[in-house]
Amino acid sequence: MNTNFLQTPIDYLKGVGPNRADLLQKELGIHTYQDLINLFPNRYIDRTQFYKINQLQRNNADVQVIGQIIDVKEVAQKRGKRLVARFQDDTGEMELVWFRGHKWIRESLKIGKDYVIFGKTNWFNGKYNMPHPEMELLEDYKKSLRSAMQPIYPSTEKLSNKGISNRVINKIMQQLFTETKGKFVETLSDNLISELKLISKSEALFNVHFPKNQELLAKAQYRLKFEELFYIQLQLIRKNLIHKSKIKGFPFTKVGDYFNTFFKSHLAFELTNAQKRVLKEIRNDLGSNAQMNRLLQGDVGSGKTIVALMSMLIALDNGFQACLMAPTEILSVQHYNGLRDMCNNLNISIKLLTGSSKTLERREIHESLENGELQILIGTHALLEDTVKFKNLGLAIIDEQHRFGVAQRSKLWEKNTSPPHILVMTATPIPRTLAMSVYGDLDISIIDELPPGRKSIKTVHRFDKNRLKVFRFIRDEIAKGRQVYIVYPLIQESATLDYKDLMDGYESIVRDFPMPDYQISIVHGKMKSADKEFEMQRFIKGETQIMVATTVIEVGVDVPNASVMIVESAERFGLSQLHQLRGRVGRGAEQSYCILMTSHKLSSDSKTRLETMVRTNDGFEIAEVDLRLRGPGDIMGTQQSGVLNLKIADIIKDNDILQHARYYAKKILTKDPSLKNQENKVILNTYSQITKYKNIWNYIS
Ligand code: ADP
Ligand code: MG
Repeated sequence: MNTNFLQTPIDYLKGVGPNRADLLQKELGIHTYQDLINLFPNRYIDRTQFYKINQLQRNNADVQVIGQIIDVKEVAQKRGKRLVARFQDDTGEMELVWFRGHKWIRESLKIGKDYVIFGKTNWFNGKYNMPHPEMELLEDYKKSLRSAMQPIYPSTEKLSNKGISNRVINKIMQQLFTETKGKFVETLSDNLISELKLISKSEALFNVHFPKNQELLAKAQYRLKFEELFYIQLQLIRKNLIHKSKIKGFPFTKVGDYFNTFFKSHLAFELTNAQKRVLKEIRNDLGSNAQMNRLLQGDVGSGKTIVALMSMLIALDNGFQACLMAPTEILSVQHYNGLRDMCNNLNISIKLLTGSSKTLERREIHESLENGELQILIGTHALLEDTVKFKNLGLAIIDEQHRFGVAQRSKLWEKNTSPPHILVMTATPIPRTLAMSVYGDLDISIIDELPPGRKSIKTVHRFDKNRLKVFRFIRDEIAKGRQVYIVYPLIQESATLDYKDLMDGYESIVRDFPMPDYQISIVHGKMKSADKEFEMQRFIKGETQIMVATTVIEVGVDVPNASVMIVESAERFGLSQLHQLRGRVGRGAEQSYCILMTSHKLSSDSKTRLETMVRTNDGFEIAEVDLRLRGPGDIMGTQQSGVLNLKIADIIKDNDILQHARYYAKKILTKDPSLKNQENKVILNTYSQITKYKNIWNYIS
């Protein structure tokens, strides 16, 4: 069947009509024949087996029975009525029950005819009953295309209330296959099909909707999942290639004095191999003609900042400006202080711009940015304001990119006539699979090695009732000269209550750790930024030993002498947050500890999160668990969830297929970037169809 035919509106299909079409559109987004074919079953039920009524058991599983209706009546109940049909076979009797939609059901039921009924059974008033059974006349059942593996389609309450049951969808699907004669245009090239030993498109579609057996179903699913992931990868990789060929970047041809002097004389430590490798990748990008668009992933503490700085120095060496944007004021200030110190002897002009910069300061920054005197600007979102104009921004770095949206990324682009090179850094590792699908248009560098000498952080889970012991431990650590974080959850919706928890906690800590022996800092979101900064500085300088805080310190804060992280109500934090928090310690040479405090009541997800934290320090492993617990949509936020709107593949379970798909997409595009070779004609056609009918671009970025 040709593809245009598949764009026919669903109303035209026999058995659908305007009302059903409307429902299918609204509830399942099915507009065309094509959409219907791509409505894939969620699961399959094995309907090879039939039960006799006297074989039914009280386990409430799906069963299938053949029998006849003896009579039908309405029975009054507390609210409204229910419709009850007596149903029998040669071994006994049971009831079929409907709580809704009585009229048309009653009219359609045929007394004395053989039916196949299917559904879950309940035991009630000494009999089995089956509420809202799926049913079909035995003679129709025998005639239908139905296979033993019965597909169960996605549905909604509204659909089933309006009589579009799974069986109806199944019938509509049969009709579609009859009208199309089950022939569909092949969408993968012969090469791929033979190399991967795939079944044809038509065979796959047939077997996914009407599987003949398990084996064919598995082949059908593999083929369709591969295809789906293949075309997404093809588009992402193609977009990346087009981007590279079209968007000219500023070629940073040389590595000059700033970089070399820093590298030779001011670098306080030897770079790790991972840092060296990543720097090389970045240098290659910057030196090429294309604009860099790179994601730098590295676990907390892996040393991304130094990579950022050295990249900025390359920009400066080539006469360009650079900027570094961080999501919070605290983090910007810290970056600013750290980088300023590192550049101390290099004679570089570097400034900080945040929401709390004073007007006069701002004006100076704006001026010196525009005339090019200012070389490095560090700050928060304030960098994105329209008044911030660069003379020649060559490199923009975004730290903790997951906190910024795509829109903000692109705003940085517009800071120049020609887009600057972009490096986004994230310490919340995105599982590789997800990164590949979501950021397929970015190149990815990974720092997968921590600086030497780090002791891995010891993590334990303690219940609230052991608080005294925990406090004793804190005292011991402080006696050794260490510092301690105690973090409370502050979650927007219940902010007032959380705030009270924080203050109560603070007071009790002040009681248990009295002055003058102990000095305590407190930092939370409701404080003025000057006060926050003051308290932070006291802690950084070691004037206070305990920092009581909310998650404002989650990101990036670097106090190497702090060796204990206590997380209060840890069950309320997500995995990536816990991992970020833990990353605040273990930054110095001392053994560090993370203590997760919880109440006794824990959900199973909370337990998994805590166990995971105790078991591993590996951010990538944690990210994988997080992905399994929360699902991809939640992790990436709604903005990007479109990418994960897959029809048949599952980004978590089908990771292997994704890798295959990406491998082949890359291989094909490397050999034939514009897909103009005869052997790739089918791929090009399909690709054009996909982009024509469903603008995938907007679902990718
Ligand atoms: P993150 O990747 O979390 O941003 P940072 O850049 O803040 O990590 O680095 C964490 C700490 O490790 C900093 O104190 C930094 O100076 C130090 N560091 C970074 N690279 C190295 C290295 N190669 N050797 C030793 N220490 C390093
Ligand atoms: Mg950092």
